[in-house]
Amino acid sequence: MGRISLRLGAVAESATLAVEAKAKALTAAGEKVVSFGAGEPDFPTPPHIVEAAIAACRDPKAHRYSPTPGLPELRSAVADRLKTDTGYQVEAAQVLVTNGAKQAVYNTFGALCDPGDEVLVPAPFWTTYPECIALGGGVPVAVATAESNGFRVTVEDLEAARTERTKAFLFVSPSNPTGSVHTRDEIVAIGQWAAEHQIWAVTDEIYQHLVYGQAQHHSLPAVVPEAAEHTVVLGGVSKTYAMTGWRVGWLVGPKDLISTAANYQSHTTSNVSNVSQRAAVAALTGDQSCVAEMREAFDRRRLRAVAMLNAIPGVDCQVPDGAFYVYPNLTAHVGREIRGRTPADTLELADLILDEARIALVPGEAFGTPGYARISYALGDDDLGEGLTRLSDLLSEGM
Ligand code: PLP
Repeated sequence: MGRISLRLGAVAESATLAVEAKAKALTAAGEKVVSFGAGEPDFPTPPHIVEAAIAACRDPKAHRYSPTPGLPELRSAVADRLKTDTGYQVEAAQVLVTNGAKQAVYNTFGALCDPGDEVLVPAPFWTTYPECIALGGGVPVAVATAESNGFRVTVEDLEAARTERTKAFLFVSPSNPTGSVHTRDEIVAIGQWAAEHQIWAVTDEIYQHLVYGQAQHHSLPAVVPEAAEHTVVLGGVSKTYAMTGWRVGWLVGPKDLISTAANYQSHTTSNVSNVSQRAAVAALTGDQSCVAEMREAFDRRRLRAVAMLNAIPGVDCQVPDGAFYVYPNLTAHVGREIRGRTPADTLELADLILDEARIALVPGEAFGTPGYARISYALGDDDLGEGLTRLSDLLSEGM
């Protein structure tokens, strides 16, 4: 018998949060670190949302427990927004409000998985997914995607990994960490494949409003209605409204799944903070121009980041269509000497870059694909320029 649970003892620290922690510790020690690690907008939450939270603070009704699945007005607001933004029509009872989309991922796999059930996870994947699946009792199965296909998973990739134990697959478009966005046709093909094999589609659409250029977001159950009975849509206010600290997300799905996940949540965290829920109602029902303004800033930074990265010798960076990350290929810098050190992989390269240039980025190992690094461009324009200039200066040495 171990002192600590083997199940939880096996959980790795979130690599993205670990990078952030190291960068913050250096900053606290007086170093000027530019952090590309954070998966959060640098903007403050828009004022009308903050005002709604202040009003909620003053309302005694918000000082009490509320229903676990969420305030009725928030569940309705999520359903309405889904219909308006994607065309997918659901009842408010199909919405479970969670402490951020992260808890929605945990609740979903806790509710779906029995021991041994396999969940296909396209790689590169958000670092939290495999841990959630494993803690839910499932078995995460990484499915490689091709850089030449913009890291977009295909039906062929998924079919090659399908077994009799395949219960679900995770789909994220726009993607963290690559920023790739699937086309409507690709989503239709994937949704039809899932419906044909009665496999649950867990579609993480938290970056749905952050798409650029010609790219468009399509919600899987909206374009493949026959898959809806086996589909869970994950979402939240964190990325769209600069509300990462407020902790409001949701999952939307068939009622049996929602009630199972809600029962689970009733024994873990109960209702999400009422103040945050009231702020989320204001976000979803209020003026949406703040979303367009932030998107415009991200788009500008996206193009600048890609151009600056591709100008660095040995760095190859695709143009992402969504989210706020770029995912450059850094393999040319692995195994070569830089300032007296020869990084054996991108973990060691990221460490060297932090030590030598005071830039924090997240190595591809965290996302199941060594050789790359995730750079978040959700930071101010000046920091973006400063950080990428420092990276260029360091990596140009000896090239
Ligand atoms: N899904 C993806 C793909 C993410 O990148 C994140 C956050 O980084 C989340 C879900 C969770 O977001 P939150 O828990 O802040 O709502």
